[in-house]
Amino acid sequence: MSYKYLRDKSYYEDLYDQHTVEECRRLVAQLKKTKFPKSLDKDPKEKAKVIGYLFHLPLFFTKGERYLGREDFITKMIAEDEARDKFVKDNPAPTAYCPKCNKKMNLMVSELDSSFDNKVMRMVYMYRCEPCNTKKAFYSDGEPYVFKNDFCPKCQKEWDKENIKSKDKIVTKYSCPHCGHNDEYTLDFNEKPKKEPVDPNFERDKKEFCLSEKEGEEYRKWKTVDYPQMKEMVDEWKDKEDHKEIYEKAEQTKKLTLPELSDLLAKELSKSDFKELVISNTEITRDLIITFTIQDAKSGRDEGSSRSDLKKALNKILEDTNWKLMSEGVSYKLGLLTGRLRGADDKEVIYKELKEKQY
Ligand SMILES: [Zn+2]
Ligand SMILES: [Zn+2]
Repeated sequence: MSYKYLRDKSYYEDLYDQHTVEECRRLVAQLKKTKFPKSLDKDPKEKAKVIGYLFHLPLFFTKGERYLGREDFITKMIAEDEARDKFVKDNPAPTAYCPKCNKKMNLMVSELDSSFDNKVMRMVYMYRCEPCNTKKAFYSDGEPYVFKNDFCPKCQKEWDKENIKSKDKIVTKYSCPHCGHNDEYTLDFNEKPKKEPVDPNFERDKKEFCLSEKEGEEYRKWKTVDYPQMKEMVDEWKDKEDHKEIYEKAEQTKKLTLPELSDLLAKELSKSDFKELVISNTEITRDLIITFTIQDAKSGRDEGSSRSDLKKALNKILEDTNWKLMSEGVSYKLGLLTGRLRGADDKEVIYKELKEKQY
């Protein structure tokens, strides 16, 4: 009854390390089954690379993650065992009286319900009345406990029990007067507890799989700093591999400065009878946004045609450049057209926009 759940910290540390060794051993065994294509045998350099990716990397991750989870696991386990001890202390067994002869019963068992699984804790209390041998048991939440051995498993009625004690064992014989079912249970005092087989490679494997603080902290740094950078680079590279044509198109996009753009537009738009280009406002964000006005020099062209002609001309001129007409289009008043253009300065932005257009 004085059983304590909380143990030395080293108990939890050893338990965790043991699990780490087991997990890594399982992983190694599984990885060893990996079959490499025969063609790799001709290229030892490539083979070493493939083995590195498929073998060392998963093990490296597993070891690192086990290290990172160690402290939390130990803290959690200790907190759970402390909670168990506290619950036991806060829920002592109440006094119970025999339902048959009304005498005070002896407390036989007062412990946590072993089906406890981090949800609800409860105690189980078991009593016996010495004079009349009646048993009684219940949980701390009031639910009665049923002594399974007191009832015949075949007909569920109460059956007879007889203990035959000898020097080194107790044989309990059950017999059911209702259905005739019999059973026997032997408690052997000489039976030795099974010894855990010695694991001769444990220390060696522990050294390999359980990272030291130095190794573990290196992993933490790698994971939080180097790995995301590496991953981003690899992802980017892979993305460009997957969209090669778009990437090449972005590379070939003409990057026009504002004066270059202004000259190009003035020259090309005049071919469609738009004149007097004025760039009136510039706004620097991640890109450069400019507002322009231009006059329709073609008499008799109505608003609708004027706007659509200008849009068409702009889209054609700006195709394959880093500039484009913004989505609101162009507006028109008495022959004066206005709109906004956005210029991307960055190849990456151009690439992303081209990709978005594609999908
Ligand atoms: Zn009694
Ligand atoms: Zn029976």
